[in-house]
Amino acid sequence: MQRLMEGHKKFLAEVFPRRRDEFHLLAESQAPEWLFITCSDSRIVPDLILGTGPGDLFITRNAGNVVPVAGNDVDGCTATIEYAVEVLRVKHAILCGHSDCGAMKAALDRRGLEKLPKASRWLQHVEAAFSHRQPLNPEDGPHAELASLIRGNVVAQLLNLRAQPSVARAMMEGRLAVHGWYYEILSGRIERYDEDAHRFVPLVEG
Ligand SMILES: [Zn+2]
Repeated sequence: MQRLMEGHKKFLAEVFPRRRDEFHLLAESQAPEWLFITCSDSRIVPDLILGTGPGDLFITRNAGNVVPVAGNDVDGCTATIEYAVEVLRVKHAILCGHSDCGAMKAALDRRGLEKLPKASRWLQHVEAAFSHRQPLNPEDGPHAELASLIRGNVVAQLLNLRAQPSVARAMMEGRLAVHGWYYEILSGRIERYDEDAHRFVPLVEG
């Protein structure tokens, strides 16, 4: 805990005073433009890779960046999506998977799940990834099979996201766009799913 306490001390002494006005504006309301749905993995730091900060991204995270199917019983992810779309009126919903995802590794190789009854049940939500596997990419080297499944999971969860009633309604009204991303930890690069071409392409050039 020491490291976190030191970190917070530093924030109070160095960061907060410089950004006091920004926090003052944010203290009583938020108006984020983006809903960001990603994995709980510690290596994904959205504000770091996207250049965003307080008030920008409304975030929900879980193992495997899952959006449970619309008919599923209530869960934190879909409740968060509904609030973001209906109340905060975000303009974009981004579903972001990532390389070396532990949840997808477990889905691929089911060993070790007997001690994890909750995680094991949760992983049923990623089964659809298997039917949306993406072509193997030689650049992914020995991890190509896993990466193809992870990208497939982005496609599968994107379909679930679109099927959420609040999302479907907002898209029909033309006030919400949805996006599927794949973040590669090794290179730092993000790919986006091109829904017309049915393939992943770089989010930015260069
Ligand atoms: Zn993950």
